[in-house]
Amino acid sequence: MNKPETYMLLALECSRNALPDCRPNPPVGCVIVRNGEVVSSGFTQSPGLHHAEIAALSKLEMSVNDCDIYVTLEPCSFQGRTPSCAKTLASLKPNHIYIALLDPHPKNQGAGIEILQHAGISFTLGICQNEVSEFLSEYLISSDL
Ligand SMILES: [Zn+2]
Repeated sequence: MNKPETYMLLALECSRNALPDCRPNPPVGCVIVRNGEVVSSGFTQSPGLHHAEIAALSKLEMSVNDCDIYVTLEPCSFQGRTPSCAKTLASLKPNHIYIALLDPHPKNQGAGIEILQHAGISFTLGICQNEVSEFLSEYLISSDL
């Protein structure tokens, strides 16, 4: 089994594919892992289309209950042009969620994490925080809805 950092770095690599179409949303990447194997991945699509988590989930061909999800940014808590990813993840109940960065967006800022907590989803925050923030931070906050 690889360390969580290995998969988060894959999610980070994946997130680079989101540019430039995702703008003004932040370029987020997501990989889904089962038994140490990457079984799906996704990144932020054009505004109004899938966020990274949902892009990866939509391609997943098995139950997410046995899978770990790695996502470079806190799942969104609010309904913008798309439904809340945090709520979707909370209802699907993956095995564990690894998140690199908290989203500083005024409408998120820990609210996405709170939704996961209330749903009893286990998660780890801060995996590869430095590596992800180096790429992602310049795109944060400015995101519109
Ligand atoms: Zn989202």
